Amino acid sequence: MSTAPLVEAPVSALRRALDAKNISSVELATLFLERIEARDSALNAFITVERERTLAEARAADARIASGEAGPLTGIPLAHKDVFCTEGVLTTCGSKMLSNFVSPYDAHVVALLKKAGAVSLGKTNMDEFAMGSSNETSYFGPARNPWKPGHVPGGSSGGSAAAVAARLAPIATGTDTGGSVRQPASFCGITGIKPTYGLVSRYGLVAYASSLDQGGAFGASAEDCALLLAAMTGFDARDSTSLDRPPEDYAAALAAQPAESSRPLAGLVIGLPREFFGDGMSSDIRAAVEAALAQYRALGAATREVDLPNAKLAIPAYYVIAMAEASSNLSRFDGVRYGYRAAEFTDLADMYCKSRCEGFGAEVQRRILAGTYVLSHGYYDAYYLQAQKLRRLIGGDFRRAFGECDLIAGPTSPVTAWELGAMSGDPAQMYLADIYTTPVNLAGLPGLSHPCGFDAGGLPVGLQLIGDYFSEARLLAAAHRFQQATDWHLRRPALAA
Ligand code: GLN
Repeated sequence: MSTAPLVEAPVSALRRALDAKNISSVELATLFLERIEARDSALNAFITVERERTLAEARAADARIASGEAGPLTGIPLAHKDVFCTEGVLTTCGSKMLSNFVSPYDAHVVALLKKAGAVSLGKTNMDEFAMGSSNETSYFGPARNPWKPGHVPGGSSGGSAAAVAARLAPIATGTDTGGSVRQPASFCGITGIKPTYGLVSRYGLVAYASSLDQGGAFGASAEDCALLLAAMTGFDARDSTSLDRPPEDYAAALAAQPAESSRPLAGLVIGLPREFFGDGMSSDIRAAVEAALAQYRALGAATREVDLPNAKLAIPAYYVIAMAEASSNLSRFDGVRYGYRAAEFTDLADMYCKSRCEGFGAEVQRRILAGTYVLSHGYYDAYYLQAQKLRRLIGGDFRRAFGECDLIAGPTSPVTAWELGAMSGDPAQMYLADIYTTPVNLAGLPGLSHPCGFDAGGLPVGLQLIGDYFSEARLLAAAHRFQQATDWHLRRPALAA
């Protein structure tokens, strides 16, 4: 059987090929490993690939398939963002601080996917400790956008998004604290979903901002995301914010929709926040988003304007809270318990200081300093407490909006992928580009980004769908209906050929 269609194939087709014994999991893994070997030097999407380990997992999957015990992901290759701990494999978080860290255990998400029989191709590049929107803060160098390698893939899960877009992996995990699944999905022309906070266990996910961090899924389509997300969710007593809910079969929910209706989304009301359609969005993005909304209406959905009056305050609220939590979470990296230790120092305090100064990059240090500042006596009330109040107001905005609509739609990002280095000199400018994604994290809601067009330079544009708590199935179903009627999700960068 020719392997070219398999590289392009949705996970459901890979499943059928594996079950029909048209291809083995070892052959499939080899196919993707060879693509990584041939193409990743141009993309830098992977930090660690361990061929023998991957093939051993694939052999185990083949045995399981042969014994008739395969689940939906058994034998399917995937990649993990390097923020998830993987037993016996380097987990760097894109940082010099953890550049020698081999985790003694698997993150809950990694363990679930192993149990499902998925085959890990490796660990993907990311902004250092998931702090960034461009993958440029990685100690291992930036990942690149497969559509234009001179441009960023988005961040912080840039490696996972670039890998899926270039078909170096069919699906990949990511994390989204303020947009890090949805924004790189949009920059790379793929689909990504961040579920309701608490649905995916954070155990073994190296913490950035614990009240916001959430695992998510990347795939070419909503269907592929549904398969991956279903396998990642599940109660975990080791994460105190893990939600104990019966598992949902998201893929089955897609299949169960009425089949041949020309208006499959009839009855769905999509809210368009006035605040998301004002100034600040590029005209190419506006045109692509408007066209996508017209498509949603053609599929039967109704659109209406809603208000999120406090959403404009999401950036300051998010960055205060995220940096505060980061300053506390990252205190564990002191040269004693984990990772990098400075080679020369005079005493214990000097060892802490040098290890942290040498082990952390500039952006991480900036955030630890700012986070410590907003939590310090005399500033706590002025910054941190105010940010928490804004967070509550933003959550209230969404609650009111979901009284008037089922889903909210808008652009994922006000800009498309920028050129490498274009924003590095101005971190605040880069923070502003998170305007549409951060409100969703502050409220703990699920959000999805799917491709909906291109800008004049040929870079992908993403549409963001936001749902009420636990509406993942509804989000995925709406995106799936859109993708059944359009082909944006089937477009591939030349680099993927
Ligand atoms: N760009 C945001 C930040 O830098 C979001 C990152 C994320 O979601 N991990 O904090």
